[in-house]
Amino acid sequence: MNPSDEIHKRRTFAIISHPDAGKTTITEKLLLYGNQIRMAGTVKGKKSGLHATSDWMEMEKERGISVTTSVMQFPYADATVNLLDTPGHADFSEDTYRTLTAVDSALMVIDAAKGVEERTVKLMEVCRLRDTPILTFINKLDRDVRDPIEVLDEIEDVLKIECAPVTWPIGMGKSFKGVYNLLRDTTVLYKTGQGHTIQDVREVKGLNNPELDEAVGADYAQELRDTLELVQGASHDFDLERFRAGQLTPVFFGTALGNFGVDHMLDGLVQWAPAPLPRDGGERQVQPDEAKMTGFVFKIQANMDPRHRDRIAFLRICSGRYHKGIKLKQCRTGKDLRLGDALTFLAGERDNVEEAFAGDIIGLHNHGTIQIGDTFTEGEDLRFTGIPHFAPELFQRVVLNDPLKSKQLHKGLTQLAEEGATQVFFPLRNNDVVLGAVGTLQFDVVAARLKGEYGVDCRYEPVSVSTARWVEADSDRELENFERKAYDHLARDGAGHLTYLAPTRVNLQLARERHPEIRFRETREI
Ligand code: GDP
Repeated sequence: MNPSDEIHKRRTFAIISHPDAGKTTITEKLLLYGNQIRMAGTVKGKKSGLHATSDWMEMEKERGISVTTSVMQFPYADATVNLLDTPGHADFSEDTYRTLTAVDSALMVIDAAKGVEERTVKLMEVCRLRDTPILTFINKLDRDVRDPIEVLDEIEDVLKIECAPVTWPIGMGKSFKGVYNLLRDTTVLYKTGQGHTIQDVREVKGLNNPELDEAVGADYAQELRDTLELVQGASHDFDLERFRAGQLTPVFFGTALGNFGVDHMLDGLVQWAPAPLPRDGGERQVQPDEAKMTGFVFKIQANMDPRHRDRIAFLRICSGRYHKGIKLKQCRTGKDLRLGDALTFLAGERDNVEEAFAGDIIGLHNHGTIQIGDTFTEGEDLRFTGIPHFAPELFQRVVLNDPLKSKQLHKGLTQLAEEGATQVFFPLRNNDVVLGAVGTLQFDVVAARLKGEYGVDCRYEPVSVSTARWVEADSDRELENFERKAYDHLARDGAGHLTYLAPTRVNLQLARERHPEIRFRETREI
């Protein structure tokens, strides 16, 4: 098939939601529609003991949270859908922010009982930076939830995005009857207890069809007609252009657990969400259907699969086609790399791929040479922009319980730091090892992973560091001079970059004033 046909079939998206809104459950159902699992597993959670197929680390199973970002590809209708899973917990937000730079659209899942929650607000802000088109699924209609009109109002007010309802619910909780699709003028009837399967649904065409009164009850049918009149006056009609510009979101109602209404959303996604979009390659805009392959790394993960014990760099293809044996240039280092064994990810199962296209994510084996933000091309010098790397805000000293494991500790921390969620610092003046993170949970994750993956047993002690800044200067001489003067506060990070570890904010402020020639960066340029 013509590569450009393949590219136009791609829909690459991520789910944004507050924890517990139903992201994992909906992911399961999407994979069910993608025919990737015969029966969607009951959602992870301590109670059920069953885990979602998209969760693969021990840690997340124990805690019932998603730590990793997994990538899942599945066919649906005429499209090839790439779903990039993101960790829901706020301590892993960096990972999520970077993943959102690798998608072309996003699905926002809202708990209909809770409305717009804090994480969702934050994630929407990130999507705004790139005007990512957003679809909305309002979940848990099988429970007693808030008035749907009120929830839409809240989305419009708080998230400043216009809502265009595509489906509308009939009843809720025990009397949830189904949804009416405004664009198809069809009511689809809900049956309980069918959540694990793709249901045979009964459909009633036409809002004024007497069959509807018989199917849902005359009262509910009349209420639906009245509400819709109100809704259509007060809300927006779906508009493809405004959706593509990130100004309007098509809204779908349903229950992920009951697997109802999810398919309407998925139909909307493949029909309206954009195929891979042009990207800013620094030097120029890169069009997805250019013949030559380009891409950037947005995530690195160590030891993804305990059976393989390796590090994988996740690369989003921005243009062209990957094929086995392709020679690519890593633009940061200028080095060439022949790729014989890139991976794709089917719900946690990894496979060698023969070919992949713009919009797809491939996994590259990384032996420590690839960094987050790296651009790869077939030779041209480009640099895809906009992948953030944040300075950590929390610090602890890592202390080994077995002093002989120092080498493994350094290796483990450096490799885990490549993933971008933590940073390791080696102060110049002593042999301390300082770990920095954006969220406290990261420290537990690192300790558990050091033990499980590197056989290193360690504990943490407080350290007098309140913030870190990567330092730069125009000349090497200025930097060397600074290194001498600020020696006691300087460290190298896992990648060897000079970093200033400030014991207090005031100290940082003073250092800034004393050394105007030095740039103190909060994000590392990548
Ligand atoms: P996540 O944290 O966003 O991934 O949320 P989960 O998918 O793990 O769902 C959180 C909880 O809500 C779980 O107990 C789910 O079983 C439950 N849940 C998800 N979707 C629905 C739904 O449509 N109806 C009901 N009643 N519960 C749901």
